[in-house]
Amino acid sequence: MKKLFLTLILVATVIFGCNTSSNNEENILKIEQLVIASETIIKGQRLSLTTDQPIKNVIFMIGDGIGIAQLHSGQLQEVGPSGYLHAQRLPITGIVKTHAKGDLITDSASGATAYSCGIKTKNGVIAQDSNGNECVTLLELAQNAGMKTGLVATSGVTHATPASFATHIDSRNKYSEIAEQLVESEVDVILGGGLEYFIPLDSAGSNRVDQLNLLSIFEKKGYSIVLNRQAMIEEDSDKIVGLFSLGGMPSKNRIPSLSEMTSIALKNLSSSENGFFLMVEGSQIDWGGHANDTPYVLREVKDFDDAIGLVLSFAEQNPGTLVIITSDHETGGMTINGVNRENTVVDIAWTTTGHTGTPIPLMAFGPHAVKFSGWWDNTDIGKKVANLLGFENFPLILSEVD
Ligand SMILES: [Zn+2]
Repeated sequence: MKKLFLTLILVATVIFGCNTSSNNEENILKIEQLVIASETIIKGQRLSLTTDQPIKNVIFMIGDGIGIAQLHSGQLQEVGPSGYLHAQRLPITGIVKTHAKGDLITDSASGATAYSCGIKTKNGVIAQDSNGNECVTLLELAQNAGMKTGLVATSGVTHATPASFATHIDSRNKYSEIAEQLVESEVDVILGGGLEYFIPLDSAGSNRVDQLNLLSIFEKKGYSIVLNRQAMIEEDSDKIVGLFSLGGMPSKNRIPSLSEMTSIALKNLSSSENGFFLMVEGSQIDWGGHANDTPYVLREVKDFDDAIGLVLSFAEQNPGTLVIITSDHETGGMTINGVNRENTVVDIAWTTTGHTGTPIPLMAFGPHAVKFSGWWDNTDIGKKVANLLGFENFPLILSEVD
């Protein structure tokens, strides 16, 4: 069994430099106010149960690969043994079982499809059942109901988790086709990495096999394209695609951070009179787990938790907002063996470089959050969200309708 020893260092708050200019100062202020608001909340300030008013907005946050140990070690790093992360401030906690169709251990495609469609499918499959029939996703039903929609991730946006909410394909590895489907998805805000599948073969860094320029197709459809943080902040369009790296976003010195992308998504989507459905993924906790790289995992838990703090601030100020925070599976079989007397070294052990079948945590806040308390199958979570939003006939497999 491999043991990694981690020196706990108080991480200085990242201060983002801004080159202000006259016409974007207002946007920058708003974003920084949101970020600061989430960071200045006293860690440990618990949120209370809210009244069960109708749900207007749903923010579904997935920490890919997060189990209890990932969250708790992130807490030890950030606020010590007695403190609480933002993720630990929510009033409702549940536990989620994660098996895939035909496999006790799920991958992110099957895991996200359980949430997005409320069905079990085989590993590797994106929003289809195991017979290749498309299932209708929560995001698509939200669009049908007139809600705005958004996808935010720190992986490529063509990766399994975001893809499972807005595309349908038999293999998560068909990234080029997933990118083509995202262009047609009508999702209002798409932010993350993955530029490599949206630019033509002859462009530097392209991973496509053809000359399709999906960015220009996005533009023809009325989207604004932003390729760096500053452009993202200045952009005020109704539909935005932001792609900030060729593949997954860098883990160190990530610009923009997940919370900055999330704040832009919330600013855009909250203009919707009919509410919105936003999926936010902290994608790379899983990647750190596969590498059994404890500092990587803790850095990613912090990035995810900062975004959670931002989302909770938004949800407190917008009472019709239901926040669900969960994972798709645990990665690495991470466990905490101990902390030294000075609380300066955490002894982390890993049991695998793959995923595990250990059930995962779920936290909820906002109207009807109490319905998520308990021990559930992952498909139950998608079904509950659908039910709360009044989406009938869910799960819905398209061939059964035809
Ligand atoms: Zn994984």
